[in-house]
Amino acid sequence: MPEGPDDTVRIIPAHAPVGQGVHALSPAAPIAGSARSRGILVALILLLVVVLGGSITAWVIFAGPRPETTAAATSTGSWSPQPNAAAIAVPAEPIGIPGVVQAGLSNAPVQRSLSSRVIVPVLDEQSLLAHAAPIARLFRLRENPLVFILDFPSLDEQGAAMNRLAALVEKAGQPRDRVLDDAALARAISEAGDTAATYYYGHNYRASDIDRFFALAWRDRVTLTPGEEWLRLQHATARELVGDVDFAVLSIPGVERRVDASMRAAILHHEIGHGHFFTRPSFAAHVNRVWREVFTEAERASFRRFLSSEGYDAQLEEVMVNETMAFVAFTPDRRFFNAGMVAMDDGRLQVLRAAFLSAF
Ligand SMILES: [Zn+2]
Repeated sequence: MPEGPDDTVRIIPAHAPVGQGVHALSPAAPIAGSARSRGILVALILLLVVVLGGSITAWVIFAGPRPETTAAATSTGSWSPQPNAAAIAVPAEPIGIPGVVQAGLSNAPVQRSLSSRVIVPVLDEQSLLAHAAPIARLFRLRENPLVFILDFPSLDEQGAAMNRLAALVEKAGQPRDRVLDDAALARAISEAGDTAATYYYGHNYRASDIDRFFALAWRDRVTLTPGEEWLRLQHATARELVGDVDFAVLSIPGVERRVDASMRAAILHHEIGHGHFFTRPSFAAHVNRVWREVFTEAERASFRRFLSSEGYDAQLEEVMVNETMAFVAFTPDRRFFNAGMVAMDDGRLQVLRAAFLSAF
């Protein structure tokens, strides 16, 4: 480190023996007042002068600031960075803690313990329906083990975990290549005429879409909600269970003031239809064939209009096909869907329903 005047000034107060100099100037002995021996007094004064002068000289020579003291103090007592400071490792990336999600900090795979595998119950549709979630919980569908269901106690909790993902994947008018921040998401929900609770009553996604969502959120440094962090853990758990194949993640709300038992049943059944579409290529191919070959052009246009009014992006053809299938064949509650909503009579709707379900 370069030495300059400032270094010297900073070091002196702590090391220079200034106090010794002050003491040396203090009266060291009573001065004799006898007039009998002026010669002795003069001699004493002369002696004092000599001793005093000697002390000053000695201080200057032996006790004053010394270059070697300054150098030593500089190398050991300075706050300045030391030459070996670069050896202290500073992690360039956050270090993931197994089993712990660091909100918005890491996109590393979540490490799951073996015990996590036994806490994902496998239930059939009726058992899932009977489950009343006091807290959000992950299940696996017995009829199709590539389908996972998040059962939320309420629409509010579902929305807090799933709405930002919905906006990215399939909501009309929203970007497909970046994740909305909280303000933009609130704006999107309000512009759709919804609340966070009613943006969707149920959700369905491919695992690969959820992977993309978290990757984009990481890239865009969007702070995730606790619900979204919870979703990330459930998604990682499901991923570990099924291995390296795509799977489906659905979500449903519990019975609450806005959702009665019949609605919950219809939501679950509707989402399970999507689960089959995502995970059974032969069923997806069949659905596409029915859409192309059984539906008329006017009927397809009618469904596109209906789905647009429900907030789905009509530019996404697969979403149009998949949702039409789920509403026609898997939504047994007329409040969510009926023939009148697509300007169709019940007889024709039954024909289309039967066509979709002939794959089972
Ligand atoms: Zn749907």
